Amino acid sequence: MECIFCKIITGDIPSKLIYDRNEIIALEDINPQAPTHLLIVPKKHFENAGEIAENNPETLGEMFRVAKELANGLPGYRTIFNTGAEAGQSVFHAHLHLLGGRAFGWPPG
Ligand code: 5GP
Ligand code: ZN
Repeated sequence: MECIFCKIITGDIPSKLIYDRNEIIALEDINPQAPTHLLIVPKKHFENAGEIAENNPETLGEMFRVAKELANGLPGYRTIFNTGAEAGQSVFHAHLHLLGGRAFGWPPG
C-alpha cells in the first residue's frame, strides 16, 4: 500500500489531525500555500473528486460541510480539487484543499 494519505489514515504515518469524524479527516498541508491550508480527505481511497461523486456522493457534500466548519472565522476561502497531474494533482487519494487567510488572484496559476 503506497498511498501516503491511506498511511496517515491508518496511523502508519503519525500525523496531527485537526478533524477526524465519521468518513473524513483533515490535516494541515505539509507545504502550505496560504496562512490557512488544510486538506480534507475521505478515509476511503478514491483517486479523485469524480470518483467520490460517482461512488459516494454524500461524502463529497460532507467534505464541503467540513470545509465550511473549519473555515469558520475566515472572511473568505478557496476550495480546490486538483484532478490529474496536468491540473497539479500529486497525491492520487482525493482531497479537498481549503485555503484562506490571504487574498487570491484569478485566474489561478
Ligand atoms: P495535490 O497536489 O495532489 O492537489 O495536493 C497534494 C498536497 O498534499 C500538496 O499540497 C502537498 O503539500 C500535500 N502533502 C503531500 N504529502 C503530504 C504529507 O505527508 N502530509 C501532509 N500533511 N501533506 C502532504
Ligand atoms: Zn489512499
